[in-house]
Amino acid sequence: MKTLDIDRRNFMKKAGGSLIAAAAGSSLALSAMHAHAAQSAVTQTKQSQDAITPQKALQMLKDGNSRFVQGKMYQRNLMQQVKATGAGQFPFAAIVGCIDSRVSNELIFDQGIGDIFSARIAGNFVNDDILGSLEFACAAAGAKLILVLGHTECGAVKGACDDVVLGNLTQTLANIKPAVAAVSGYDSDRSSKNDKFVQAVTDKNVVLTVERIRKRSPILQGMVDKGLIGLAGAMHDVHNGKVTFF
Ligand SMILES: [Zn+2]
Repeated sequence: MKTLDIDRRNFMKKAGGSLIAAAAGSSLALSAMHAHAAQSAVTQTKQSQDAITPQKALQMLKDGNSRFVQGKMYQRNLMQQVKATGAGQFPFAAIVGCIDSRVSNELIFDQGIGDIFSARIAGNFVNDDILGSLEFACAAAGAKLILVLGHTECGAVKGACDDVVLGNLTQTLANIKPAVAAVSGYDSDRSSKNDKFVQAVTDKNVVLTVERIRKRSPILQGMVDKGLIGLAGAMHDVHNGKVTFF
């Protein structure tokens, strides 16, 4: 350590003004880092959940994804959040997403423990059980927003396009088939080899899932109509982490 200190003094003497400028720059960078580090996540409570409107909930997810993409995630003490939420949870949103390993809702929206309900199923569709879960999230547990999140390069959507038959997966993929049928054109190639066709089906699957939530859950539809909850669709690009909201 001593040798290093001496070397450093000598170096500073030789380097003169430019080093001072560099040092000033680095202290600026350091204070910027500190400013960023000060941004700590809030753990949701009944009070904070009550104060969040559906519009605000959507904005919170947009802001969270923006932080994720920029690498400026909030600081979180997850174990502290575990302790704070142990007796009760007050999440502000419910997300229907795919099981895909690249689309972890908490990560891509920079959320922590107790922030969001996550319903994940290959191809991000809804069936009776997912609808029941969403009714629990919104009507019983106070979430203010349902987001249906599709993603690019979705293996389940590709499987539906290709009519894959494989055990129980066959039935799972049947839930995505209405989106395949609803996309017209692309007659030269309606297989997973056609990227544009796959993306068109992926987009349509989100739109149809949003519609299906309204049609098949009078409880959720009623809450949307009364402005108690929001219902939106979005697409996550697995190449860059960005979520585009419809
Ligand atoms: Zn997927």
